[in-house]
Amino acid sequence: MVPERYILAFEAVPREYFVLKKYRNWAYVDQPLPLIKGATISAPSMSLLLCYHAELDVGKRVLEIGTGSGYQAALITELVYPRSSDGTLINPFREKIVCTMEIDPELYELGKSNLKKTCYLDFIEIKLGDGTLGWPDKNAKFDAIIVTAAGKEIPPPLIKQLNINGVLIMPIGTEYWQVLVRIRKVGPRENDIKKEHLEDVRFVPLRGYYGL
Ligand code: SAH
Repeated sequence: MVPERYILAFEAVPREYFVLKKYRNWAYVDQPLPLIKGATISAPSMSLLLCYHAELDVGKRVLEIGTGSGYQAALITELVYPRSSDGTLINPFREKIVCTMEIDPELYELGKSNLKKTCYLDFIEIKLGDGTLGWPDKNAKFDAIIVTAAGKEIPPPLIKQLNINGVLIMPIGTEYWQVLVRIRKVGPRENDIKKEHLEDVRFVPLRGYYGL
């Protein structure tokens, strides 16, 4: 059973703002929908499952690779920021704790504009660039990294940017089928990791230096 806070996060994000206009009527159907340039917004249950497997909780610093529509980043935001007594999201941290990277300039603009319209951009840092090389600020460390495109291996720069006890979730396999893998960093060295195979999935291919 997925804990209630994940369901509340799903209920809080207006998914109709993140799907293309022509698919608005399908916004709450549990299936992936096409975006532009071959990207897809995952089924809402899959977006939630990624958050669940990444063990998101209030205060965790999260990096998402593959902004796409911005929907996953919005869900992450709902799970890691606290709320004031009137129920609005607040940022009591010194910086934004949700970061997302997109490699394609048009998808970057799409995601950014969706996140702006829905006001989530106040809580999210978004960058255009190859996420397989990690977040450009070399000192940045994350408690969770969620890769929303499929690769053949875990990009080593991402393992470097995980905090100890941090987890990374990523679909690993070929272009047509993948296994969702969870890596947990258990020590300071790059190979201090534990690996789990979670379930079979299908995502669009990861591009970039460590892409498919
Ligand atoms: N998380 C998105 C799903 C996006 S589909 C959502 O909720 O809508 C996967 C996305 O990953 C695509 O937008 C694709 O352009 C992007 N992508 C692929 N390779 C990438 C890379 N190396 N770095 C950053 N983004 C990448």
